[in-house]
Amino acid sequence: MQSPTEFVETHRPAGGRRSGKRDFIVEFFVRQTSGHVAADELVDLIRGVDARISRATIYRTLQWMVDAGIARRVDFGDGRVRFEHGYRHPRHFHLVCKTCQQSFEFLSSDIEALVEEVTAARHFTPVQSVLQIYGTCESCQAGRPPARSTLPVDVVFARDALRVAIATERSGLTFYTRAARLARDARGREVFERLAGEEREHLGKLEARYAELVEQHADLEAQPTFLFFKGAANGLFAAGAEELREAGVDDRQALLIGIRCERGSHLFFKRYGERFDESEGKRIFLEFAGEERDHFDLLVREYRALIARERAAATAAAKPAASGRTTKGRAASRSRGTAAHRRKPARRKRSA
Ligand SMILES: [Zn+2]
Ligand SMILES: [Zn+2]
Repeated sequence: MQSPTEFVETHRPAGGRRSGKRDFIVEFFVRQTSGHVAADELVDLIRGVDARISRATIYRTLQWMVDAGIARRVDFGDGRVRFEHGYRHPRHFHLVCKTCQQSFEFLSSDIEALVEEVTAARHFTPVQSVLQIYGTCESCQAGRPPARSTLPVDVVFARDALRVAIATERSGLTFYTRAARLARDARGREVFERLAGEEREHLGKLEARYAELVEQHADLEAQPTFLFFKGAANGLFAAGAEELREAGVDDRQALLIGIRCERGSHLFFKRYGERFDESEGKRIFLEFAGEERDHFDLLVREYRALIARERAAATAAAKPAASGRTTKGRAASRSRGTAAHRRKPARRKRSA
């Protein structure tokens, strides 16, 4: 895990003048875990520690942090500009309660996919997307005092990343167990069994990591969902496992379905993992993407080997049969086809 100082260093513009006061303000701000801080709140907090630091210096430093990508400016429409930092705080959207003025953060892969689709279609280079949903929170609706979490967002983010990864492993396990059961090719069955075994092992590791995280943070399970991954990769394997139920799915098709699922899963976790800021959730996604990539490579190798085996078997079967009377017609038509190609070499080249 990066320290606040390391986080600041990765964002510091090259060749910039260093200032002790600014470094102090930046570190102080980055160590805040309360989410969004208004500029005047930060002034009070900092001047409470060191009264020699002026309001103007703090405001200038906030702007410096926004320019460096350390801080983001958030405006909830109540006339107070707030700031949040990116340290242990992944990008997100906001639900803003107009009654208690609290904001609640969430992330949705579907919204991001939509933003990407629209910006790409309009040849627009996006820098930042802001989504704020105004309304009344659950506590305010129920007349309860607003719930305040002291957990850093990235812990909830890690929990949700683990949940997505665990759900994906579970459906992967179902997929490979089912594929092993229907495989007719002995080697193919062995591969599916091996992958089912790997999924089971990964699942055990992820569940242990989840249990550890919950143990470290007592009220973690009670936190609302941060990551919404409706169209997430676990859906890929669930759909793949359903496809295996269809009549007439053979080893070759089962391998192809597996390849498609692993590829989709790898791309999904890699794409999202790479976009996240440095966090446990990011690491979970990227590690998982790597494992899916290994499975994908293994399946592609097996698919090629299966095709080669099928071809070898077909050649072996065709050889003695070719000399027999019954295949004469087919052999003759095959040689006619070859002759036709020979007659039109130019045309064949073009279409190749
Ligand atoms: Zn509220
Ligand atoms: Zn926020």
